Amino acid sequence: MKNNYMSLKFKSISENESFARNVVGCFALQLNPTLMDVSDIKTAVSEAVTNCIVHGYPEKPGDITIDAYIENNVIHINVFDNGIGISNISQALEPFYTTKTDEERSGMGFTIMQNFMDSIKVESNINAGTKVYMSKTIKADA
Ligand code: ATP
Ligand code: MG
Repeated sequence: MKNNYMSLKFKSISENESFARNVVGCFALQLNPTLMDVSDIKTAVSEAVTNCIVHGYPEKPGDITIDAYIENNVIHINVFDNGIGISNISQALEPFYTTKTDEERSGMGFTIMQNFMDSIKVESNINAGTKVYMSKTIKADA
């Protein structure tokens, strides 16, 4: 029975996106994941962190926090910002929905998180911030 946790707080600048995704990918290694599992986790973290950087703090950088927990063979990854928040969460979760149509965003970030993790839940409050809760079961080697 495994039980572990980590917490990481960093500035919302794009230089930290790769840092954050690799830290969580490394943390997950103790569950003996497949390369595909690690890749899925890193991609989901990358999308969540990029959203905090791009959407959460559009004006100036703020704090991003990642809390990750391991419970038996499940990894829980929670990504928080204290940014502008999301007014309509169910709309934001829809494929191809983006508020930044002028840029190269495709509106697929949340869809990717949903597909690559087993569960994702979003909580948000305007001008208070956004919390993304994700989890994934890492199956034991056959
Ligand atoms: P892509 O991820 O494909 O580059 P995107 O970021 O617009 O495009 P999603 O990641 O699915 O697409 O996010 C959908 C919308 O939800 C965003 O356009 C934005 O309006 C809102 N959003 C997502 N994360 C946050 C956040 N942390 N803070 C504020 N708004 C957010
Ligand atoms: Mg996105």
